[in-house]
Amino acid sequence: MKKFLKEFKEFALKGNVMDLAIGVIIGAAFGNIVTAFTEDIINPFIAGIGGADFGFRIPIYGGQYILLGDFLTAIINFIIMAFCIFLMMKAVNKLMSIGKKKEEAAPSTKPCPFCKTDIHIEATRCPHCTSVLEEK
Ligand SMILES: [Zn+2]
Repeated sequence: MKKFLKEFKEFALKGNVMDLAIGVIIGAAFGNIVTAFTEDIINPFIAGIGGADFGFRIPIYGGQYILLGDFLTAIINFIIMAFCIFLMMKAVNKLMSIGKKKEEAAPSTKPCPFCKTDIHIEATRCPHCTSVLEEK
């Protein structure tokens, strides 16, 4: 049991799991905001224009209704969510690529062209295979 708890602790404290948990929590909260935005702002606006009636129900047999309004609301929610997530992913990718460029701008090692081992950037002779390196 102790080993199990230790393994769980290692798993839970891994950066990826924490990031994922934060992502899920933010995603859920964000979903609520988008739902509220669609139902309280977008839907009355569309209904006001005289377009779709979001209380629209299609009666089918047995006194049942197809809730077209709810379905359309769900679709609009999904489109807004997908668009926002797309924008967020673009922003995150941009930030990550900036971080990568900084790393690439100041490399401290280079691969030896003869033995392919990483050696100091200013080395003129490889410490591994002793090859003399030509300055580029
Ligand atoms: Zn070498």
